[in-house]
Amino acid sequence: MSVTSTASSSEAVVLVVEDEPAIATAIAQRLASEGWTVEIAADGHAGIAAAHRLRPDLVVLDLMLPGIDGLEVCRLIQAERAVPVLMLTARDDETDVLVGLGVGADDYMTKPFSMRELVARSKALLRRTERALRAAEASAANQPGEPPIAIGDVLIDRAQRRVSRAGAQVHLTPTEFDLLVTLASSPRTVLTRERLLAEVWDWVDASGTRTVDSHIKALRRKLGADLIRTVHGVGYAFEPPAGTED
Ligand code: CA
Repeated sequence: MSVTSTASSSEAVVLVVEDEPAIATAIAQRLASEGWTVEIAADGHAGIAAAHRLRPDLVVLDLMLPGIDGLEVCRLIQAERAVPVLMLTARDDETDVLVGLGVGADDYMTKPFSMRELVARSKALLRRTERALRAAEASAANQPGEPPIAIGDVLIDRAQRRVSRAGAQVHLTPTEFDLLVTLASSPRTVLTRERLLAEVWDWVDASGTRTVDSHIKALRRKLGADLIRTVHGVGYAFEPPAGTED
C-alpha cells in the first residue's frame, strides 16, 4: 500500500463555492498549488451548475451565500451525486446549528482557518473517497471484500457499502457509512471523538470534534436513536439493538 498520494488525488478536481472574492481566490490558489484543478463559483446557483458540469472530487462550500444558502446547495449537490463537502462557516455557533441539523456535509471549518489545515482536511476527504471507490470496484469485480457486519436487525454490507435495518435499506453518505462501520466493529466499546476523527477522517489533530457529533446525529436520525450511546465528555459506543443475543 502506498503512503504517498495516489494518482487520482493528485489529479483531483475541486469546486470552491464562496462569494467573497478574496477568500475564494486564496483558497483556490492554495488548492491549485497541490496540483488540483480548482474552479470557483460565486453563488449557490453557480455552485450547483458547476457541480453538475465538473463532477468534482470535492466541494468546498461556504454556508452564507447570496441566493441559495450553503445548506440547500449541499443538499442539492449531494442529491445528484455522492461527493464530499467541506463546509465553511463564519462563526462557531453556525457550525453548532449545522451539527444540530445533522446536514450532509462531510466536514466543517470555521473562518478564519489556516490554509494548511484546509489542505490537510481536503486531502483526508479525498483519500476516503478513493478508499470507497476502490472497495466498490473490487465488489463490482466480484473480488472477496470484507465480510458483512450483522448485529441484531442491523446489517452492514461492507463490500457493497450498503446498510439496512430490519430489512429496510438506509441511505448513508460515505462518511456516515465509515463512521458506522468503525463504531459497529467494536460494539459496546466507547470510542473517543479524537479516535473517531483519526480513524474515519484521517486526522491527527482533534480540532474538529463537532464534525463527529454532526455525523452521529445523522446516523441516529437515519438508523434510530437507540444504536449509538453518548458517553458524555468521552465519546460514543455502538449498542446492539434490544433483543440482540450476545
Ligand atoms: Ca459568504
